[in-house]
Formats: sequence, C-alpha cells, structure tokens
Amino acid sequence: MKKELALGMMRLPVTADKKIDFVKTNQLVDYFLEQGFRKFDTAELYHDTQSEHAIYECIVKRHKRDSFEIADKLTSWRIPEESRAEEFFQKQLQVTGLEYFDRYLLHSVEEKIYPGAVEKRYFDFILEKKAKGFVREAGFSFHGKPDLLDKVLTEYPEMEFVQLQINYADWDNPTVRAGECYNIARKHGKKILIMEPVKGGLLANLPPEAVKLLKTAAPDKSVASWAVRFAAGLEGVDTVLSGISNMEQMVDNVSLMKNFQPLDAVEEKTLQELVALLTKIPRVGCTGCGYCLPVCPKNLPIPGFINILNNVKMFGDLSQIRNSYKFHAARGGADECINCKKCTNVCPQHLDIPGHLAELAKWAKNDY
Ligand code: SF4
Ligand code: SF4
Repeated sequence: MKKELALGMMRLPVTADKKIDFVKTNQLVDYFLEQGFRKFDTAELYHDTQSEHAIYECIVKRHKRDSFEIADKLTSWRIPEESRAEEFFQKQLQVTGLEYFDRYLLHSVEEKIYPGAVEKRYFDFILEKKAKGFVREAGFSFHGKPDLLDKVLTEYPEMEFVQLQINYADWDNPTVRAGECYNIARKHGKKILIMEPVKGGLLANLPPEAVKLLKTAAPDKSVASWAVRFAAGLEGVDTVLSGISNMEQMVDNVSLMKNFQPLDAVEEKTLQELVALLTKIPRVGCTGCGYCLPVCPKNLPIPGFINILNNVKMFGDLSQIRNSYKFHAARGGADECINCKKCTNVCPQHLDIPGHLAELAKWAKNDY
C-alpha cells in the first residue's frame, strides 16, 4: 500500500553560512519525485524566509508543473499592519514562480489567532482565491484545543482539509490533545494531513530504554519509522508531512511510505508499552486547561512552557526543543516570571508554576 508523503521544506540541508544548500536540496527533490511522490509544503517564514525561494529554484524552475503539488500558507502574524493578505499572497506567487497553489492553508490556527483571523476575513480570503482558481484546495493548519477545532470546522465548513499535529506521544498529552483533535476532524468528515509525526524529530531521539524496547521488537526498523507508521496508519489520513534534511532520512521516509505497512496488533502493543515507559519519566502534571493564562500579568504561555520543560525531561536537551522554546518565548521568556503567584492561585493542579518556569529559565540559559 502506498501512502502520500509531503516533503516539508522547513528543515532543508544548509551550507556553512546557514543558507539553503540548493545542490543537496535538488538531490532530495529529484529522488522524491523519481520515487513517485509529488507533494511539497512551505511557508513564507520557513528557513528565515528562504524556503519559498527554494521552491522556485529546486522545483518550479526544474520540473514540469504537472509533476508536483505545492502547499503554501497565509501566516497571519507575518502580515504587516499596514499591508493586506492580498499583497502577502501575490508576493508568495511571485517568489515561488507559481500561477496557483495546489493547497493553501491559514497557518497555525489557535485560540489567540482565531478571533483576528475571523475579523480580517482570512478564511473568506482563501476561499475567494480558490473560487478564482489561484488555490486548488483550501484548508488550515491547527495548533489549538479540540473545542476550537470543532468551532472552526462548524463556522467554516467549506474548508476541505485540516493539517494536524499528531504523534503517538501527544495522542493523550493533555496540553496537545492530538487524539481528540483527530476525532473532531473525522466527525466533520475532513481530509486530515499530519504534520510533525516524529514530533519535530524528538521521537527519533528517544531515551536509551525506549530505543532498546523498539530495537528488541524490530531490530531493522528505525526508531522514527514507528512514529511515521503510527500517524500514517490512522484512518482518514491523506498525507503525512516530513521535514527532511538529508538523503538518509529521505530514503527511510520514502521506503516506509512507498511500501506502507500499518502497525500490526503486536506492534501497537509495543507502542503502548513505549508510551507507558515515556509517561513514567517524571513530568509536570499540567493538564493544559489554560486557567492560568488570563491571570498572568506578563502574558506568559505557561502551558506551552511546561510542555517544553516536560519534553526536556523526556528527551533531553535537543536543538528541536530549544527552537520550540525560542518560538514560545518570542514575546517573553520564562525568566520574565515575576513570581506573583496569580497563576498558582487558579491552577486546578496546584502546580508550583513559578518554580517550574524558573527551572525552564535555568535550562534556557544552559545551566540545567
Ligand atoms: S507567577 Fe509568573 S507565570 Fe505566574 S502569573 Fe505571575 S508572572 Fe505569570
Ligand atoms: S492552570 Fe495549571 S494545569 Fe492549567 S494550564 Fe495552567 S499550569 Fe497547566
């Protein structure tokens, strides 16, 4: 069975001066197409705004238009106040050298972004572009809570697909609630695309006892392959996106998806044991309820920070986690907590939130 794989153009090979390495990217793209895959995913902000340029240089300029499909995104927080979605969209067409996008997504819909997106009519904008032929399929990527997903799909039933962050470690994770989001997308009958099936690479870098469990069960299978097979094997999943950086990862992903075998009953049991093992690693018991968010005078993304701290505890000090921290800390780092304890007064789990943020701040300063 073949499953669709999309090449996420956000972790491409780079040169010593941190520019996208077009020679190596061409090799990845050519191999991917030769193996019968055709979907690519980009966004204006990927690779410090160079990813869309790579789409032009490595794909559009070198391959026939009917041999590939490109997904791009309307990234609302990158549209300057004085500018409009139209200008943003036209620039994307210009940079990628395309006349239309095969898929176009409202980027990273979540609780803070949604009201502004509705007010600025971004969903309508994408649907208008579709009606005029500049977009073939309209959808959105989602990082919020299940209730919001239900609301968005109810208010915008014209959206054809939803891109969800799904992996086995976050399926029951209370701050992500991936399993619930999946079920809501299924309830609305939407096509599901999965991003980050390997949790940004974290599930390829498991703790030693977890690797031992998987390698004992299947010595020849890569640790990452379990994560990809879990995600791609879910019913209703159309495509799995993978941010591929080198040929080794490309060959592993392509061979998995070309000869796709969903997890069998024994392997599913192994994965459940693995999740139980990961869950045993001491973590902060945040349920992601968000009660602490409106009371924080520093407007800190508390559940997001605690999730990062838990990832450090489970997977160690990895660059992917540091990148995630930088993203969350863009409007204020964990060290900006003033220990006012307004959050602890409302936290139903009675967590020592300032203490956990101090621990995270210490890690962020490389002093863990
Ligand atoms: S203790 Fe820190 S995290 Fe909690 S509300 Fe005060 S500033 Fe925000
Ligand atoms: S109130 Fe407590 S449990 Fe709820 S999100 Fe905040 S830290 Fe987590």
